[in-house]
Amino acid sequence: MPLPRGLPVVDHHCHLSLRGEGVRAVERFRAAGGTHLFLATQNYEGSVPLSLESYARQFEVTWHLAERSREEVGVRVYPVIAPYPIDLVGASEKLGAAAALDLHRSALDLAGRWIREKKAVALGEVGRPHFPVNEAVNQLADEAFRHALTVARDSDCPVVVHSPDLTPEGLRALASEAREAGLRPERVVKHYSRSRVAPGSVDGVVPSYLARRELVHDIAPDPGPWFLETDYLDDPKRPGAVLDLATVPRRALAVAENPSLGPERLWVPFVESVERVYGWRPEVGPAGAAV
Ligand SMILES: [Zn+2]
Repeated sequence: MPLPRGLPVVDHHCHLSLRGEGVRAVERFRAAGGTHLFLATQNYEGSVPLSLESYARQFEVTWHLAERSREEVGVRVYPVIAPYPIDLVGASEKLGAAAALDLHRSALDLAGRWIREKKAVALGEVGRPHFPVNEAVNQLADEAFRHALTVARDSDCPVVVHSPDLTPEGLRALASEAREAGLRPERVVKHYSRSRVAPGSVDGVVPSYLARRELVHDIAPDPGPWFLETDYLDDPKRPGAVLDLATVPRRALAVAENPSLGPERLWVPFVESVERVYGWRPEVGPAGAAV
């Protein structure tokens, strides 16, 4: 059974790089049946940004990659921008803790302005390093994350959270952090979720699941909101480090063809969840391309 006509096929988290395949990877996504991408920014210059100008350049690159994907390939790309939480590690070594935190906050404010100007749709990745760091960096990350939550509240947008794997308790703690900052937990997405969380068990926080075959099969019957993602890195030095950009369309086909699941399950991650978290629906035109 092919994918239903009019169904958007959405990868909720990937990266593209100027040194990697860039827009060519988007062609592969499109050829596999993909229509919409959420593109998270990344550091394109190979060293930790140490100035606000450097972050502004980074966000510009993300925006241009999104525009080119739309113009050249017909895939609609939604930029997701923020200073990467792990930048705090290198920046605090080079600039000192206070200046690193100041820069990080200013970069979050800049991302918030872009979002209010509709040049990006969410603040991300924000959160905490996924590996152990010293207590001083931990505190910086906590403060930066609190600021990120308030920027998202003031910009009326979701946050896409980078963190170590979280237990249901960890996810509930994340929900209360958001609530304390005045952001609804329903606007908090835990990116790179690698195990199923029972629907309704995590206080509103939304999982964006890594599109591994078994995991997709397990979660496909769940009510939303939840997303599928590859976290494609587009890093030629680490081929195969993460899932390929063609993975979400392939998994979508497998769900559609599975008699115990079926194509109607796909509206949950690709349309209904986007609408619930972001407030609008991805759409596909008559020719099957994103509009
Ligand atoms: Zn990522």
